[in-house]
Amino acid sequence: MLYQRSSALFKEAQEVIPGGVNSPVRAFNAVGGTPIFAKSAKGAYVYDEDGNRFIDYINSWGPMLLGHAFPPVVDAVIEKTKLGTSFGMPTAIETEIAELAVSMVPNIDKIRFVNSGTEACMSAIRLARGFTKKDKIIKFAGCYHGHSDSFLIAAGSGAVTFGTPNSPGVTQGTAKDTLLARYNDLENVKELVEANTNEIAAIIIEPVAGNMGCIPPVDGFLEGLRHLCDAHHILLIFDEVMTGFRLAKGGVQELKGIKADIVCFGKVVGGGLPVGAFAARNEIMNYLAPLGSVYQAGTLSGNPLAMAAGLAMLKAVNADTGLMNRLEEKTKYLHNGIADALNKNGVTHTINSIGSMISVHFAEGAVVDFDSAAKGNNETFKTFFHGMLNAGIYIAPSAFETWFITDALTYEDLNATIAAVEQVAKTL
Ligand code: PMP
Repeated sequence: MLYQRSSALFKEAQEVIPGGVNSPVRAFNAVGGTPIFAKSAKGAYVYDEDGNRFIDYINSWGPMLLGHAFPPVVDAVIEKTKLGTSFGMPTAIETEIAELAVSMVPNIDKIRFVNSGTEACMSAIRLARGFTKKDKIIKFAGCYHGHSDSFLIAAGSGAVTFGTPNSPGVTQGTAKDTLLARYNDLENVKELVEANTNEIAAIIIEPVAGNMGCIPPVDGFLEGLRHLCDAHHILLIFDEVMTGFRLAKGGVQELKGIKADIVCFGKVVGGGLPVGAFAARNEIMNYLAPLGSVYQAGTLSGNPLAMAAGLAMLKAVNADTGLMNRLEEKTKYLHNGIADALNKNGVTHTINSIGSMISVHFAEGAVVDFDSAAKGNNETFKTFFHGMLNAGIYIAPSAFETWFITDALTYEDLNATIAAVEQVAKTL
């Protein structure tokens, strides 16, 4: 494949945008080479500026659950645009999407819309601190909750890829209020809670982790966190930015039957436009301004175009009774196909998958937390990534990311992907 135009565009971009990108992991730093400049996308495919077509497993890092340029979303945005793009006044569609979201997700009474997953998580911890009148939070190594200061402590995703889990610019004062735990290690969380009695406002977790590759919770882990939170008056925050409206209509709360106190959303909830949201029961949400004293706001929050895209997306997800099963079947098919191809070629690996999330770790043994994910062989990953790219398969340019399966993928696409893995595996 030729990437001449992408190379030229990247050169030009680097002159005026730091690293040529508006979000670091897009820059291919972890894998080397020139980032692909997207021109358009439709269904399961993304097309670059050089005219190459890729089967897309990034899908804008999650929002495109039903494929790119999903017609109901595109149409809804076009129609809304004609009526004006932003008012800074309440609009009917905000209530419409809020009602639908509240009806789909268990255990929430009210939801507030923001502009990104980062904002959702940042606001959720402020709310938790305001509600509990405590300062500290517990997060898990390898979990990513956006780039606000409190979360850039041993974060996953691009923050690991770039080797700066503790970013300069985050003050010691902020860092001291974020306690770090090991994912899937309940004893470790208990120790932290006991060492900080009456100080912890919230435990925030990706209830299925997606930012150190895909790591599902082990049996009993989320239940254990729930009990621990109940016993110590700590709020349990599920960051469902990745998993919300994806692993089940009601997210991991529904999938695993566990109640969170605050839930954060992003990605799918905006149908590909910049949207995040956080939600909880009335008792907690009523602490937010203007009802309560916890401040949170946004000029473009609840933007009509974003709400139109999100509403069209949620309606489609809600109406499609077979969707989650179809996604899971496709993921399993891919999981088995990739495992066979790698096994045939003697490539050491572990594949984790659940619902429509899957990741291939070039590591031996179970991958259950950040340390086991970090054991993966990055050189093998780099070769794998470029081999797949040249075969027309676009996976995330970092070993610490999840692949997202969309409903637009056909079994032909999956077979083409498995065939590519078989070829690439010979070079690993
Ligand atoms: N939480 C999780 C679980 C995420 O995966 C992400 C983004 N990948 C975020 C929060 C931050 O969302 P955003 O990039 O929209 O700010």
